[in-house]
Amino acid sequence: MAESPLDLLVIGAGPGGYVAAIRAAQLGFSVAVVDKRAQLGGTCLNIGCIPSKVLLNSSHKFVEARDHLKQHGIFMDGVRLHLDTMMSRKNAIVDELTRGIGFLFRKNGIIFIQGQAKLESNNQVAIILPDGTVDHKQARHILIATGSDPVLPTGFNIDDPRIFTSTGALSLDTVPRHLMIIGAGYIGLELGSLWARLGALVTVVEFLDHIVPSMDQETAKFLQQSLQKQGLLFKFQRKLTQIIKKEKELVVHLMVADDTSAHLPELITCDAVLFAMGRRPYTQDLGLEQVGITTDDHGFIKVNSQFETSCPGIYAIGDVIPGPMLAHKAEEEGVAVAEILAGQAGSVNYGAIPAVIYTSPEVASVGKTEEQLKAEGINYSIGKFPFSANGRAVVMGETAGFVKILADIKTDRVLGVHIIGSDAGSLIAEATLAMEFDASSEDIARTCHAHPTYSEAMKEAAWSAFSKPLHV
Ligand SMILES: Cc1cc2nc3c(=O)[nH]c(=O)nc-3n(C[C@H](O)[C@H](O)[C@H](O)COP(=O)(O)OP(=O)(O)OC[C@H]3O[C@@H](n4cnc5c(N)ncnc54)[C@H](O)[C@@H]3O)c2cc1C
Repeated sequence: MAESPLDLLVIGAGPGGYVAAIRAAQLGFSVAVVDKRAQLGGTCLNIGCIPSKVLLNSSHKFVEARDHLKQHGIFMDGVRLHLDTMMSRKNAIVDELTRGIGFLFRKNGIIFIQGQAKLESNNQVAIILPDGTVDHKQARHILIATGSDPVLPTGFNIDDPRIFTSTGALSLDTVPRHLMIIGAGYIGLELGSLWARLGALVTVVEFLDHIVPSMDQETAKFLQQSLQKQGLLFKFQRKLTQIIKKEKELVVHLMVADDTSAHLPELITCDAVLFAMGRRPYTQDLGLEQVGITTDDHGFIKVNSQFETSCPGIYAIGDVIPGPMLAHKAEEEGVAVAEILAGQAGSVNYGAIPAVIYTSPEVASVGKTEEQLKAEGINYSIGKFPFSANGRAVVMGETAGFVKILADIKTDRVLGVHIIGSDAGSLIAEATLAMEFDASSEDIARTCHAHPTYSEAMKEAAWSAFSKPLHV
């Protein structure tokens, strides 16, 4: 007897795909998820968010123990790094969390199939199983959540173990003496911080004249200065033209960006190069053409407001469609698409998606930057409060940074919040909730915040947006 079709077949078990699968199963769908990897969790859990944050945390503790605890009267002699142990802990955490998704799949009756999926029609997918045999699965709805992979500079490959992308940078077995990072986006800065903390000299090369282009520029400047104080070197308006591979070193050739004259390149010697120039949607061998799915100029799958592609019955979410390439954006879309398929009103508020950079200090933002508001001709007020005037930050010795709230000058509605400082990533949740509910800065200011907490800086910045702060 032929197998009855599934309600939903999801391709990709990253944060978009696995969350969509769980929500659809909760809503009564029969669901299967296919992924090439044996481990669930996609890029995020295996080679992205989680391993990077584990290592950032470990390296932060190393620097704390080596350089900062003495201020507390705690003297630790002979602090040393055992990179193998650090990497083993990272691997164990990745294993634990990916197994956690397996548990959630079993709990919700979701079938997991390891294999490479290829679209055959709007209701059938071929799956090449690890033993090379091919299975065919039918489903009423198909969801593409195949994510993204790193962009490599044109003409360059990762054909030498000393040249790698973020995946390689999360599994090095020694600390490079000099790590050259191509790209000053959030992945380059996080991984640069990580290896600088562990002892590498880190040079970050960027085509533009500033770091993280999407970030509020005042905040970006503060972050750049903080990273420079930690020893990171920046080379702006430079482009990589060549890497000469010598036995003991790599010689990187840099040219001034946009310089077409025949100037000699600047040569920098290093022993490792990390390409961190961003990510691109991953749709290789997926069979998009076969079923008539169209993509935009950057390769992102085009979808309508219901996440449906140009092939009816096939949907797409996450890094493979336009929008910020972030795990929580993919998750929101996963929930929304499952609810839409179940006849509910799933939706995502793209105006309130936070973004965090896990450097030290951390940076977190939601909504518009000053640059965007200016470009859109929106008049705004600015409320800013430094962590140096926040009691908890002083107690913790983490006074670098500020909270900056941008509010509509007429209505006081919060339009954007930018935080740089300790635990900014947690603090941004309040701002995101405020924006989700169209709150004004006065709403935040008049909400009672516990003392002493970092969150009081948010309250004070809100006071300063519509009136005056109390504590400066
Ligand atoms: C170093 C690094 C750090 C990051 N840190 C953060 C962070 O701190 N916070 C954050 O929000 N985001 C972070 N990201 C981004 C985040 O990982 C992605 O936005 C997120 O994983 C996207 O989820 P997704 O479900 O769209 O796709 P993915 O997580 O990429 O999952 C896609 C899955 O699809 C599978 N697949 C692809 N094609 C096929 C096929 N044909 N058949 C079967 N399976 C297939 C892949 O094997 C993969 O497992 C980071 C990324 C990197 C690289």
